[in-house]
Amino acid sequence: MEIKVMANILEVNDSIAKKVKERLTCHGIFALNLMGSPGCGKTTLLEHTISALKSELKIAVIEGDLYTDKDANRIEKHGVPVIQINTVGGCHLDANMINIALDQLDLAAIDLLIIENVGNLVCPAEFNVGEHGRATVLSITEGEDKPLKYPLIFREADAIILNKLDLLPFTDFNYNAAVEDIRKINFTAKLVAASCRTGEGLDHWYDWLRAQVKKQARC
Ligand code: MG
Repeated sequence: MEIKVMANILEVNDSIAKKVKERLTCHGIFALNLMGSPGCGKTTLLEHTISALKSELKIAVIEGDLYTDKDANRIEKHGVPVIQINTVGGCHLDANMINIALDQLDLAAIDLLIIENVGNLVCPAEFNVGEHGRATVLSITEGEDKPLKYPLIFREADAIILNKLDLLPFTDFNYNAAVEDIRKINFTAKLVAASCRTGEGLDHWYDWLRAQVKKQARC
């Protein structure tokens, strides 16, 4: 019985997600679902991305957070539209939350919508929010065992960012093993090794994002 209830929840979410995606697509928007653990650097990556790309792309952000608006405040300082969603304890965003948030954005004035999901390696991967692409951030300090322990969020990703690369010499993180494990789960995702602190590798991430937005604009 419980399995059936869960199936129904996912079915309802998927049908709303389909509508959200159509809504975004018809405005030529590329929507990215940005996922990863608390503290892996999602918001910092987002801040760098906005600084690097805001002169060439119209960017908007939806911030998912359990209770606070700390991340939305950080994004707002970069001068792009940002909508805060508080899930009040809920461990992920869902398509209905995004649909409501979109009413508060000028969709005609957006090329790239980045949705920062709640920090969590499990639930966000299960709920489609109407995005066109998914990016999962894994930081060096989390340990290289995470891809095999939480395979869904890595399997479903179109891009995987290995963040905090500058900390590699100070940890026991086995970089080659991590990449090997990620490739066992997901052979096609764009893999970017980066450090938001030093800026290393971020150009590859920006290029990947530019290409997605360009592809979407032609849809
Ligand atoms: Mg954050």
